[in-house]
Amino acid sequence: MPRGDGTGPMGLGPGTGRGVGWGRGQGRRCGFFGFFRKDPNPAPVTRAPVPEWVAPRAVPLAVVDFELCTGCGVCADTCGFSAIRMENQRPVVQPAQCTGCGACVNQCPKNAITLRER
Ligand code: SF4
Ligand code: SF4
Repeated sequence: MPRGDGTGPMGLGPGTGRGVGWGRGQGRRCGFFGFFRKDPNPAPVTRAPVPEWVAPRAVPLAVVDFELCTGCGVCADTCGFSAIRMENQRPVVQPAQCTGCGACVNQCPKNAITLRER
C-alpha cells in the first residue's frame, strides 16, 4: 500500500477526508481530531424529575372579601411589604408587592382576607 494516500498505517489516516476513511460528518469518535467530531447518534439526554420540594411554588395573593371587610385598615398597617393601600376605606392589594406572607390574613379582625392562587 503506497504511503501518502491516507490509508496506510503511517499515512494521514482516517478523519482527514483523504482516501478511504471516515469522512467529514461521519461521526467516528477516534483519534485526536475525532474527539471534536459530532456524534451522529447521540445518547438521548434524560433529566431526573425535579422533586416537589425543590420546584418553585407560585406565590399566593391576598384577596379581600368586601362583604366581610369593614375598612378598618388593620391589614394595610400590618403588611410589611406595603402591598395594601386604603382607597375610599377599602383595602386594595397590589399584586406585584404581595409576597403571600399571610400576615394580613392573620390580623384581619373580620377574617375578610384569604390567600389564593394567582
Ligand atoms: S383588616 Fe380586614 S376588615 Fe380591616 S380593612 Fe383589612 S380586610 Fe377589611
Ligand atoms: S399576604 Fe403579606 S404581603 Fe400580601 S398583602 Fe397580606 S401582609 Fe401584605
